[in-house]
Amino acid sequence: MNVVFDRGVYLPGLDLWLDALRKQDFAVISHAHSDHTARHARPVLTPNTQLLLSEYLRKSQSVTLEYGEPLDASDYSITLHPAGHCLGSAQALVTQRSDGARLLYTGDIRVQPSPINEPLETVSCDTLVIESTYGRPDYVFPPQADAVANAVRVLTAWLEQGALPVALGWRLGKAQEILHHLLSAGFRVACEDGIYDVARKYEDGGVTFPGPYRIFDGTAADDEVLLFPPGRKSREYISQHRPPGRPVRYLEVTGWAAGSGRRPWGSGRPGDASLPYSDHADFNDLIAYVQAVHPRRIFTVFGFPDLAERLRRMGYAAVHLGKNATAADREYQMPLL
Ligand SMILES: [Zn+2]
Repeated sequence: MNVVFDRGVYLPGLDLWLDALRKQDFAVISHAHSDHTARHARPVLTPNTQLLLSEYLRKSQSVTLEYGEPLDASDYSITLHPAGHCLGSAQALVTQRSDGARLLYTGDIRVQPSPINEPLETVSCDTLVIESTYGRPDYVFPPQADAVANAVRVLTAWLEQGALPVALGWRLGKAQEILHHLLSAGFRVACEDGIYDVARKYEDGGVTFPGPYRIFDGTAADDEVLLFPPGRKSREYISQHRPPGRPVRYLEVTGWAAGSGRRPWGSGRPGDASLPYSDHADFNDLIAYVQAVHPRRIFTVFGFPDLAERLRRMGYAAVHLGKNATAADREYQMPLL
């Protein structure tokens, strides 16, 4: 199966789009993050992704598929499998009818367990299209339990100093994981309203949070931590609404804290403390997942081309697709297509 990357993954032989960013008649949406979605006429997605996108897709005729439930088209069938990245996130396994060839598109995956997401399922395939967000060898995260224990230590110290701690995590997925960890550790939590709304949707999708949480209203108890998305708007809002007399300390929770300092645009300025914790697979997890899936051909998408280069050195037929593909990717691609 030929694979094209053009603001989404396209399988021209089957005329099938996966995570297209332009509106299509029919396309798979792997998960609810906005860099994987468009308002397709007939999106294929899991019930929990539909729940998270219900307002966004209100004019669409969604086709919801439970994990493992097949959707049969004339030339292929699709099944969705847990990706471990956020609630409802899915990998798509496309099986071509003519020859039984199986292509797995991972979307965004996370190998380490999450307290709230459906755990990643390892799905074997012939062709693997895998994300490469942290596909550089310097992005290796510490064990999650260590990162969480460090966060608890830092936040406790700030509270003891009389400061108002603010944990920063993206609004959908990361923030709800942080919320779960903070409540498990015994903190009280006041959230930005958007984070609160998504957390309530997670509850509708079957997630239980181990304690109460509320929307931040300008007050904060002595043992309370704020939870906001990263970015300038959050800092401005908090500085205008914080309880008088309490200095604010920011803890950013991001995989970019693990690497050599290169950050994507929009990740905001660093916090007073940074913890490498991510809802994505790190470099070692990506390599381990490829080995577990054992594909004959690999295409890497999003992120760094370094993953494909390492996989080639390991003997895999691997190519990075996208505008940052290297000359080696383009040369190597010829015999693959
Ligand atoms: Zn994502």
